[in-house]
Amino acid sequence: MFMDVSRRHFLQLGAVGVTPLGFDLAEATKVKQRLRIEGATVSRTICPYCAVGCALLAYTKKASDGHVELLQIEGDPDSPVNEGRLCPKGASALQLAISRRRVESPMYRAPGATEWAKVSWDFALDKLASNIKASRDRTFVTTDGNGNVVNRCEGIAFAGGAAFSSEEGYLATKLMRGLGLIYLEQQARV
Ligand code: SF4
Repeated sequence: MFMDVSRRHFLQLGAVGVTPLGFDLAEATKVKQRLRIEGATVSRTICPYCAVGCALLAYTKKASDGHVELLQIEGDPDSPVNEGRLCPKGASALQLAISRRRVESPMYRAPGATEWAKVSWDFALDKLASNIKASRDRTFVTTDGNGNVVNRCEGIAFAGGAAFSSEEGYLATKLMRGLGLIYLEQQARV
């Protein structure tokens, strides 16, 4: 059964060292907290997700077996861009590096198959190239309904990622326009 404890009673008891719930405050103050990032190396970097360019602090430490462990990523309070704050994507940047659920190789599900299978990058790139060629050949339009020459591919769309650098974005756009694509989209268009 719970004791009937007023706020004043609680503080009075706490002042002599033992709380009504039985905690010994004198013992509790002896516990020394150690930060997980104590002694870690701090590196300044930029969030990879979008063009806002929020600054990050990455804390790393050498583990006993010699490998460098990434302990924490947080917003850099010295940055005039984000002043230490991060959006939910940036705040989860640590997971990009260490999540055990991260897919690290291309996956392929063959037509009719129910399971995804790990494949090599060579297999994935060859498959991608042959599928793009087949789709483009099948859906390329040379003239529209009014007889205008349009030379466009209506059967493929391209979606870029916010982690693209400017150069990657330029290259991807040139390549896709060169194939005649008209549906180009970008995740970072927010
Ligand atoms: S994704 Fe979020 S945290 Fe990263 S740069 Fe953009 S706004 Fe900043």
